[in-house]
Amino acid sequence: MTQPVPRYISRSSDELHRLIQSQPDRCPICSFVAIAIRRHIDSLFYEMVNDIPTREAIRKSAGFCKPHSLLVAEQADALGTSLIYGDVLKNELTALDDGQFDRPPNTVGAVARILDGSMPGRAACPACREERGQSEIAIDALLEGMRHDEFAAAFGLSAGLCLPHFRVAFLRARDPAAWRRVLEVERAALARLTGELQALARKYDYHNAEVEMGDESDSWRRALFLAAGWPEGNG
Ligand SMILES: [Zn+2]
Ligand SMILES: [Zn+2]
Repeated sequence: MTQPVPRYISRSSDELHRLIQSQPDRCPICSFVAIAIRRHIDSLFYEMVNDIPTREAIRKSAGFCKPHSLLVAEQADALGTSLIYGDVLKNELTALDDGQFDRPPNTVGAVARILDGSMPGRAACPACREERGQSEIAIDALLEGMRHDEFAAAFGLSAGLCLPHFRVAFLRARDPAAWRRVLEVERAALARLTGELQALARKYDYHNAEVEMGDESDSWRRALFLAAGWPEGNG
């Protein structure tokens, strides 16, 4: 059961506060972004399949990156995906037909412009771009929330930020007092997890089946995701 959220902060800070309370064991920015990206892919496929600029953006990036393709495979519909990827593959086929791949750059007689590095590259995955924008919104909301005691207290009980989001927060922080609060939470979270990892290693070291594992048994997993960011549906 989550506590009522104080009514003084923005909607994003509100949402973040709820996420911190309901999933204190994972980075709240990762949770916020995961929800936003699911929403984004939903609207992309159910409302914007016929939206020309969107299809153009996906064509330019030659589809989604691997992690976002997995999400699309889980979430999107057959018709929307076939329309969008029809464009992507047709575009690739045109490049092949135009001879852009006839001579590999390291073979004799290779086309100079390919050697120049002027081959049309891929634009960034549109969902990755959306993800970056959403994490900035969420991080600004966190920094805003940290100016308020109740929000800061809830965040203080959490597992802190993943390292990638911690670094983005560092770059975006403007209020030194709010940043100090984030820093304290992160320092405590890192120290706690480091202690758990050491306890885990010690217990393995004993080679003793009698030693019972405590909360530290999955600390290796939490360390992995704290360092990389939390994948969706974990924690
Ligand atoms: Zn994160
Ligand atoms: Zn992506």
